[in-house]
Amino acid sequence: MMFKTHLAIGALAGITLFHYYIPEHPFLFAFIFLFASILPDIDTTKSVIGKRLWPVSSFLSIFTRHRGFFHTIWIPLAAFGIGFYFNIGLFAAFTMGYLVHLLSDAMTSEGISLFSPVLKRRTKGFIKTGSALEYVFLVFVCVGIGLQAALSL
Ligand SMILES: [Zn+2]
Repeated sequence: MMFKTHLAIGALAGITLFHYYIPEHPFLFAFIFLFASILPDIDTTKSVIGKRLWPVSSFLSIFTRHRGFFHTIWIPLAAFGIGFYFNIGLFAAFTMGYLVHLLSDAMTSEGISLFSPVLKRRTKGFIKTGSALEYVFLVFVCVGIGLQAALSL
């Protein structure tokens, strides 16, 4: 999915979460959540975050392809484990934001291999990245953000 769609879905998920759970540091939690919701695309120099952090994305692309290891369950699972073990709640923000990105990419026709290399099966949806359908989806997500924000007032 496109950067703006990932950001919008991250915002919608974050706002929705805040209806049920207000963390101890809400602004830091929201920042980490949103950052994690765009972070997996650091595995390509062509993404917005990959371009901004090109030394990192260039280095990572030596070892992994786009939608490779950085689009598997292992990174958020490790973050969850570390946060749980050391009792650091902000790791939950990272874990959830990252998972939101993965679930979003799983809705695309390109899909992701969530459990690679253990299971090679690709989880795919029907939205082609950058297509008119994604823009329609983005509009619905933005309406959802507006509705959730209105509910917060
Ligand atoms: Zn991605």
